[in-house]
Amino acid sequence: MDLKEKNCLVTGGSRGIGKSIALTLAHFGANVAITYARSEEAANEVVKEIEEKGVKGLAFQADAILFEKAEEVISEVVKQWGTLDVLVNNAGITKDNLILRMTEEAWDDVITTNLKSIFNYSKAATKPMMRARGGSIINISSVVGISGNAGQSNYAASKAGIVGFTKSFAKELASRNIRANVVAPGYITTEMTETLNEKLLDAIKQETPLGRPGNPDEVANTVAFLASNLSSYITGETIRVDGGMAM
Ligand code: NDP
Repeated sequence: MDLKEKNCLVTGGSRGIGKSIALTLAHFGANVAITYARSEEAANEVVKEIEEKGVKGLAFQADAILFEKAEEVISEVVKQWGTLDVLVNNAGITKDNLILRMTEEAWDDVITTNLKSIFNYSKAATKPMMRARGGSIINISSVVGISGNAGQSNYAASKAGIVGFTKSFAKELASRNIRANVVAPGYITTEMTETLNEKLLDAIKQETPLGRPGNPDEVANTVAFLASNLSSYITGETIRVDGGMAM
C-alpha cells in the first residue's frame, strides 16, 4: 500500500483508533494532520511519532462540533501542504443510558459530536478535494449503528446517521472523483471500551465469531486501504471490522 504524496486529516487522532489510523497512514507514507479536543500532550506525541516515520505531521486543538473551526483546520492543512487528499472522520463519544433515563443533553452531545462533526468536516473538505479533482473520505461508524444496542440509542442513531450521510455524500460527489466510505468497527480495545465490566466483555466475546476483541490497528489497516488508490472503485460502502459480530 502506497500513500506517498497524500495529505490526510484524522479527527480525534490523539488517542485510541484515531491515533492508530494516523500512525498507519504515516507508516504508508502520507503526511498526517490530527485534531483533538483536550489531549494536547498526547496529540503532540502522536505528531512526533508521525514525523519519526519521515513524513509531516500537524495537530490542531479543534472541537469537532464547531462548524467554522472545521473550515479553519482544513484551510490551514491546505495552506501548509497544498491539498487535502484524505479525510478520516473518527472523533466520537458515548454517553450511554436507557432511553427512560437518557437526558436531552446526553442525546444532543452524542448526536452533535458524532454526526454533525462529520457534516462539518466533510463539507469543508469538499472544495479543496474538488479543486484537486479527487479525494477519499472515510467515516468511522460502529456495528451498533447497524444492529442497535440497548442503552446506546443516542450512539446508535448517530452511527446509523453516518451511513446515510456517507451514501448521500458519495452520490453527490462521485462525479468529482471524491469517494466516501464507512468503516464500522465492532468491539475494539481502547479507552472508550475499557470501562466495560467483565460480564459485558464476556458477552461481547461470545457474540464475536472470531472470539476476541479487535485492536485499533485492525481498523486502521482498513482505513488505509480505503484511503489508498487500491480502493479506487469503492464508494458509498460500509465495511465492518468486527470479527464477524454483526454478520
Ligand atoms: P477514544 O475515546 O479512545 O478516543 C476518542 C478520540 O476522539 C480522542 O482522540 C478524542 O480527543 C477525540 N474526540 C472526542 N470528542 C471530540 C471532539 N468533540 N472534538 C474533537 N475530538 C474529539 O475512542 P475510540 O478510539 O475508541 O473511538 C474512535 C471512534 O471509533 C469513535 O467514533 C467511536 O465511536 C468509534 N468506534 C469505537 C469502537 C470501540 O470499540 N472502541 C467501536 C466502534 C466504533 P481527546 O483525546 O482530546 O479527548
